[in-house]
Amino acid sequence: MNVDSDDNGNGESQPLEPNLVKYKLWIWRHGKLHYRELKGVQKVCWNCNDCRHRRKYCSLVAASSTWIIRHLREEHQIVKARYAAPVFAELLDESME
Ligand SMILES: [Zn+2]
Repeated sequence: MNVDSDDNGNGESQPLEPNLVKYKLWIWRHGKLHYRELKGVQKVCWNCNDCRHRRKYCSLVAASSTWIIRHLREEHQIVKARYAAPVFAELLDESME
């Protein structure tokens, strides 16, 4: 049986945080991380600041920055500023919800 997430023969517990989270990225300025359970698996999600300020809920799985960048561009016309310094991700404070 092939399992997509286990192709290196190492069946150890999956890392909770995707690689994306370890890096400083400009997108973290526009959203915060939170953990969400999807189908019994805990996923790291990116929660859009702009949507939250408009009382909309937007949460994208933070496995790839592609969707996040697309969301910012298409929903908020936000693109990477040339001199925007990358920052580390911050966790969403649950009490804000
Ligand atoms: Zn948004």
